Amino acid sequence: MDGSRVNWAGNVRFGAREIVAPTSVAELQAVVARADRVRALGTRHSFNEIADSPGVLVSTAALPPAVDVDRAGGTARVAAGLRYAEVAVRLDAQGLALPNLGSLPHLSVAGACATGTHGSGTRNGCLATSVAGLELVTAGGDIVVLHREDEDLAGAVVALGALGVVVAVTLDVVPAFDVGQVVHEWLDHDVLVAHLDEVMGSGYSVSAFTDWGPARRAQVWVKQRVGEPASAVLDTPWFPPPADGPRHPVAGMSPVNCSEQLGLPGSWHERLPHFRSGFTPSTGQELQSEYLVARADAPAALRALDGVRDRITAVLQISELRAVAADDLWLSPAQGRDTVAIHFTWIADAGAVLPLVALVEQRLAPFAARPHWGKIFTIDPQVVRSRYELLPRFRGLVQRYDPGGRFANDYTDRYLVGS
Ligand SMILES: Cc1cc2nc3c(=O)[nH]c(=O)nc-3n(C[C@H](O)[C@H](O)[C@H](O)COP(=O)(O)OP(=O)(O)OC[C@H]3O[C@@H](n4cnc5c(N)ncnc54)[C@H](O)[C@@H]3O)c2cc1C
Repeated sequence: MDGSRVNWAGNVRFGAREIVAPTSVAELQAVVARADRVRALGTRHSFNEIADSPGVLVSTAALPPAVDVDRAGGTARVAAGLRYAEVAVRLDAQGLALPNLGSLPHLSVAGACATGTHGSGTRNGCLATSVAGLELVTAGGDIVVLHREDEDLAGAVVALGALGVVVAVTLDVVPAFDVGQVVHEWLDHDVLVAHLDEVMGSGYSVSAFTDWGPARRAQVWVKQRVGEPASAVLDTPWFPPPADGPRHPVAGMSPVNCSEQLGLPGSWHERLPHFRSGFTPSTGQELQSEYLVARADAPAALRALDGVRDRITAVLQISELRAVAADDLWLSPAQGRDTVAIHFTWIADAGAVLPLVALVEQRLAPFAARPHWGKIFTIDPQVVRSRYELLPRFRGLVQRYDPGGRFANDYTDRYLVGS
């Protein structure tokens, strides 16, 4: 295990007393049973203190890397600490796929699901919607197994680590499929906003990148399943043509680590993420924030941000817009509403970025934007809590699974409990 005490971006130093990486579930159970305070640690890709613990941090990365396929059930049971990249290669080798992936395949399965991490696609839910079952070590060190038939599962999947340490996740799988990825440039920013629904629906998974700069132009990354008919939107006069070569979302950066483009068909797991799994990102020179609004509100939300675009541009690397289908997971930022996620990759300077984060939040307040749980936000905790109508139900789960608050930290106290 990486022995460092910081997150991937280097902006959070963990205050935990110790970080351990058990090599068996029994060892992990013993760690949990004897710890007064303990939390799970994934691949450390969150940009805030969500993962930290005042006691022990327990990584699941060293558990046996199981990927067990149940073809009849259409599922695969995978070790929680595995990265999507590792799971994907092993499923693909058996002719199977996951329905969707995030922009980077290096995230751990349990960590990504715990925060409602998503890819894109008007018909694709966040990654946690593929979870058909969970095995978690709860406060006494016991293992609780949840299946879709258990009503607790919808509360336990996106749980911010507050219910216990997930040791295995059962994921829905589908037959492997190929995808072609085409980057289209340039789409006028105002045209993008005016036709947002059509743009988001122009492929299986679509991302629109904009830098809010004076050129007012956006790139549209369309990932289309091979064998499915291309969207008619691609033929409309306002839709921009394919780029003449590979592109990186950030102007001027080399596309060498980006997933294959130019429409070249390839395996789902080599096209759905924007970046190649073989590329090992070290400490990231960036900070990220993301706000999820109802899809119907997204054009108005983007126009509200347009009023402060000069200030955004000053500290921004790139913004990305993605679609997430509504789900019924209690703490999912897409719970109950078809969603557009408005993402910001900022420069790595928290002092300069935080005022802009607050400004963006002020502009998005009328749209009841839900912040990505794993990224930087400053919204008042009481306001965040008010945007999750199923939070009281989740608190009931915490009472049952962790009555003594062993898995709590400052972050969960603030955003899940409050005064
Ligand atoms: C470069 C980069 C790209 C990203 N791309 C996307 C993207 O495309 N879409 C998106 O939505 N987000 C994206 N994110 C955000 C990222 O997906 C989330 O922060 C996610 O939670 C990271 O997973 P992790 O394994 O690193 O979890 P960590 O950051 O280590 O932990 C996050 C939370 O998960 C909990 N957790 C971790 N493991 C377990 C476990 N075994 N049991 C119980 N709880 C657990 C932790 O306790 C903590 O609360 C990106 C982040 C980075 C740095």
